[in-house]
Amino acid sequence: MPDAVSGKPTTFVPRAKVPQRVQVVVWAKSAGRCALCSAYLLNGRSWFHTILDGEMAHNVGASTGGGSPRSASHKTATERAEESNLLLLCHRCHREVDTPALADFYTIEYLTERKRAHEDRVRQVTDFATRRQTVIVSTKARIRQSTVTVSPRELAAALHSADLTPYTDAGEVFHICVELDDDETEPWVWARSTARIDEKLERLERAVASGRVDHLAVFAIAPIPILAHLGSRLDDKLAVVLFGRHRVDSDEAWCWRKESAQPEVRFTVSGDDVGDADEVVALVSVSAPVSEHRVPEALAGLPIIRLFPHDQAASRDLISSRTALAAFSDGWRRLLNTVEADFPNTRRIHVLAAVPTTVAVEMGRHRMREAQPRLAVYQRTEDGYAYALDVG
Ligand SMILES: [Zn+2]
Repeated sequence: MPDAVSGKPTTFVPRAKVPQRVQVVVWAKSAGRCALCSAYLLNGRSWFHTILDGEMAHNVGASTGGGSPRSASHKTATERAEESNLLLLCHRCHREVDTPALADFYTIEYLTERKRAHEDRVRQVTDFATRRQTVIVSTKARIRQSTVTVSPRELAAALHSADLTPYTDAGEVFHICVELDDDETEPWVWARSTARIDEKLERLERAVASGRVDHLAVFAIAPIPILAHLGSRLDDKLAVVLFGRHRVDSDEAWCWRKESAQPEVRFTVSGDDVGDADEVVALVSVSAPVSEHRVPEALAGLPIIRLFPHDQAASRDLISSRTALAAFSDGWRRLLNTVEADFPNTRRIHVLAAVPTTVAVEMGRHRMREAQPRLAVYQRTEDGYAYALDVG
């Protein structure tokens, strides 16, 4: 029993050995540095023997025997050898905190607080190179009579290359796969596909609203108008990485190319008119040029604004890095701003685009919902473009 006045145990508490597993935890939590002066303690000097410079210091003294500082406590011998009572210190600091003349400075409270502060800081500053958790959104679509989707191995390779790891919810990977199995030539495909997307994304929207999810990885292949709709449904608050399929037959098919290996891409916006038109046509040439001969007759006479690569030809491999996609997004925002400035009455932009999948999603994402005109997105046909759906 402890003495009621002094708190000292009336029975002798012998020194308990600190188990090796506890020592390992103390060393790791302290990141190999003295918890008081931050001296680095892992400079072992021998090749044959690991010599550690750090010392295991007890906060509440190891025993109630003579010479053990801060030993007045109810703690048992085992409790005194627990991780929470131990600090990693350099030899100099250890000697100082155990000096009887300095006992007023190095109290149990002081050492408890310094240990907590040091270990918290270690935890914060070592939170680097973490693979960010992401929710996966993919599509499984019918394109030219075959079903196209991202395979599990391709998905794993692409996430790995981008330092991402799948978000799990109650042990299950949070993966939203939108099945778009209608043939793109069916007239009702647009309404059905957008309804499927909206329905599937409800689960994501709930997770975002609850604050559990803040990052999204999108692996989508579908006709351009459907992808633009998908983009418009992705919350602005989310960090989104878009992945596109490259024309290679390997697990790396959906990985972005190394930035340094890619030539720089820039985009030019050209609109030659200003006026009071309330509808305009945007020709977006990225994977191939879109000529104004392709503009449907119903749109004849509307002002035309063009977005195309600066100083190089439109081509299927133009958007091969995330920087190139960001350059497109910048060009697309400039196009929207130009429409707003030159045609302030515009309510609707008719979009005729030859673009890769990632760019189609970006076009839908970067439309400001309230302030800007609706996008009427067209699908490429044999001999031109046909209206598909409105975004916004
Ligand atoms: Zn020290």
